[in-house]
This record gives sequence, C-alpha cells and structure tokens, in this order.
Amino acid sequence: MPKVFVQTIGCQMNESDSDRMVELLGRHGWGQAASADEADLILLNTCAIRDKAEQKLLSALGRYRAVKARRGALIAVAGCVAQQEKERLLRLVPAIDFVFGPDNLARLPELVARAGSERFAETGWMDAEEYLFPRADAEAARGRATAFVTAMKGCDNVCAFCVVPQTRGREVSRPFAEIVAECAALAEVGVREVTLLGQNVNSYRGGCSFAALLRRVAAVPGIARVRFVTSHPHDLSDELVAVFRDEPRVMGHFHLPVQSGSDPVLARMRRDYTVAEYLARHDALAAARPGIAITTDFIVGFPGETEADFEGSMALLRRARFDNTFSFVFSPRAQTVAQRRMGSGADWAEVPREVAVKRLERMLTEQAGITLERMRAELGREVEVLVEGTGDDGGRRFGRTAENRLVHVDASEAEAPTGALARVRLVRAGQASLTGELLGLVGATS
Ligand code: SAM
Ligand code: SF4
Repeated sequence: MPKVFVQTIGCQMNESDSDRMVELLGRHGWGQAASADEADLILLNTCAIRDKAEQKLLSALGRYRAVKARRGALIAVAGCVAQQEKERLLRLVPAIDFVFGPDNLARLPELVARAGSERFAETGWMDAEEYLFPRADAEAARGRATAFVTAMKGCDNVCAFCVVPQTRGREVSRPFAEIVAECAALAEVGVREVTLLGQNVNSYRGGCSFAALLRRVAAVPGIARVRFVTSHPHDLSDELVAVFRDEPRVMGHFHLPVQSGSDPVLARMRRDYTVAEYLARHDALAAARPGIAITTDFIVGFPGETEADFEGSMALLRRARFDNTFSFVFSPRAQTVAQRRMGSGADWAEVPREVAVKRLERMLTEQAGITLERMRAELGREVEVLVEGTGDDGGRRFGRTAENRLVHVDASEAEAPTGALARVRLVRAGQASLTGELLGLVGATS
C-alpha cells in the first residue's frame, strides 16, 4: 500500500484540509506514513499569511529532497503558498513534482496519478455555485473528543495587509444541512465538541445566519460544546451576541481580532470599524456571557504606525484585558494594498524592523501579565473540562474549560476518559495552562 506523509504549516483551516487529503487518499488505497522517511508521497500544506511560514516551507523542502533521492517519493505543495506561487514554485524547487491550490483538493487522487510523468501546477478556482466542500470521514475522528468542521471558505473582505482573499478566493458558505449532518456523524462516533471553521466564519450565509447555524449545531444530539474560529468584528451581529446570552452549548470563548488600537491605522488597514465600535462589541459580548474569554490578534508595525498609534494598541489591550493576544510584526505580502503603498508617504512609512520588534516585545510582556492574572483569578473555581487525552508531561489527563483554557488533571484514563466532561477544581495557574483536581464526571448532557 503506498503511503502519504503530510506536513501542515499554518492555521486550523490547513490542519482540517490536511485531514481531508489523508481521508481522500485513504479512499483510493493510500495509507498514512508515520514519517517522511517511509512515504511515497510527501505533501506540504502551506500558509502564506506571514513570511515565516514560507521560510518554513523552503527549509522543509530542503530536508525532503534527500528522501526523494533515496526512495523516489513524490513531493507536492498544497495550500496558500501553492496558490500564490503556482509554477514559480516548480521553477524555484526542482524536487517538487506538483503544486495545487485549496480549490483543487478534491482532485488530489487524480493529480497523484498524473504526477511522475509531468510536473504541473493546478491552482484554478471553482465556481461558487459548483463548489463542493470535501466531506469529512467521521470514522477517522472515532476516539477523539473534539473535531473541526468547515463552515465556509474564502474571504470577501479587503484588509490591506492580508493575502487570504488571493489565496483562498471568494467566500463560499457550506449549506447548513451538510454541516449539521457532519456534526451528527461526528457525535455518533463519540465527538462531543465541534469547532466551526472559516476565515471569516461569522459572515456565514449557507441558508441561515451564522447565529442560527450555531443554534442548529448546538441542538445536534450528543454535541455538548460548540466553538468557532475566526471572526471579523463587523460581522458580530446582535443576533450572534444573543446566542451567547441564551445558548449554553456555545462555549464562552470568542476570538475577535482587532489588529490595532488606533483609528487611523484601522482605517489604513481597511478594517471598517473604530476602536470605540470594537469595544462596544467586546462589551456587549462580556455582558451577554459573564466570564467569557475574549482573545484577539494585533499587527504591530503596520506602515505609518507611530509611537502614539502603538500606545493606542497598548491602551486597548489594557482596557479590554484580553484573555490572550496573538500578536505579530507586520509582514508585507505580495500584491496587497499595504505592500503596494508602503513607503508612498508619511502615512505609509515603513516601520523599521527593530522598532516593530521592540513594540511587539512590550506588547507580549504586557499581555503575559494580564493572562497570568486572569489565570490566577480562576484558582479555587470549580469548572467543567472536556477531557481530550493524556498529555506529554508525564501522563496527566488534559482538556479545556468552556473558555478554552487548557487544564491538566491528575487522574488516570479510567477516572477521566476521553470525551468525558469532568468536574475539576482549579488548584494551580501558569501562563499557558491550569492544573486541577478531579471532583467527578458530569452525567449525560445531551
Ligand atoms: N479573518 C480574521 C480577521 O479578519 O480578523 C483573520 C484571519 S488571518 C488568517 C489571521 C491573523 O493573521 C490576522 O488576524 C492578522 O493579525 C494576521 N495577519 C494577517 N496578515 C498579516 C500580515 N501581513 N502581517 C502580519 N500578520 C498578519
Ligand atoms: Fe484577511 Fe480576515 Fe481581512 Fe479576510 S477579514 S482579508 S481573512 S484579515
């Protein structure tokens, strides 16, 4: 049986696409290799959001060249870098056999059959009306407590820094009946928590609103927890806020990327909200679900960002007291507005890298303090943790609270089986995780 090895670089969307590729090839007689050394096909599923991910791809390709030389393995590149670079990747790296973009995923078995006799790049788009979301194989999720479910793909926004509209194409929402059926199939094999995925998932329009979709998924028998990622603030409707008020199966965590705490920077980023509007949405969520954990993304050193603009981001971070932030230095991406305009005037002046890195360090330090305080505030509380498995840290069981905080529990697998909702008292708090004592298991919740 030929074997495939997939290396995923990037977000949950890429992780989920990688799973679909393995399942699809599995239906065509392929097994999964434990390492690239045993593989007949090495697939690199890539991210183009920042420079680092592309560099990771090139260094990984360097390592896999040796495997190709030794056993003739095919090498393919998928995902956002593939979509953006197309044939250029074939020219740049002779070891690559073929390249394919996200919309060509369903054709993978056919592409593999073609490879070997020719080198090619398949990066066309499918019509929105014809687009078929790859079906997840629920059986592959047996034994797992959580699963990702794709709700939509692409993005119709025009954020000045972002390459996603180019690499993932126009928005297409998956019909709600398909999503609900996939969640039901996952629940049948024991999955208790689903995370709905989309680059801009709350602009979902697959036959109902996103808020209505969440309620439909929350009503699937056996599904105890619903999450979603990632959202744009301008699609955070009152209807969605209301879901947090009265649907307890939608978990109390919201990832709401803000990008900057300065109105002029937000305007240049084309984010179409002000800091005050963002905070109003943030506060509405906090009022609808007391104790909700709100996390965010910041870009530091966007062109033209002054010291005062950056102080605005720091002030917002302190005001919102985010549970966590994912902050990165601005990375100019090809064919984006920000890359084209950078250096074209004072407003668009490039921020020197050393300055941006210093700002980022300040932001990370400030957030680390807030995160730790918030984690410590959890001590002594009794929470529900969905057990996901055994950690690599000496055999403790681990899982997440409703607010998506990682918790380690001193318990055996028999005491806290995967998929169980455990009642836990939190006794230790660290930057990245909490430790808790097992009090018992919650009975049937569906
Ligand atoms: N759709 C989400 C939104 O609009 O908020 C974000 C999805 S994007 C794939 C994930 C994060 O990557 C963004 O929130 C942003 O902070 C970061 N990002 C995107 N482009 C970037 C760039 N050129 N440089 C640095 N960070 C970037
Ligand atoms: Fe990129 Fe998100 Fe903006 Fe879409 S909404 S362009 S994915 S940052």
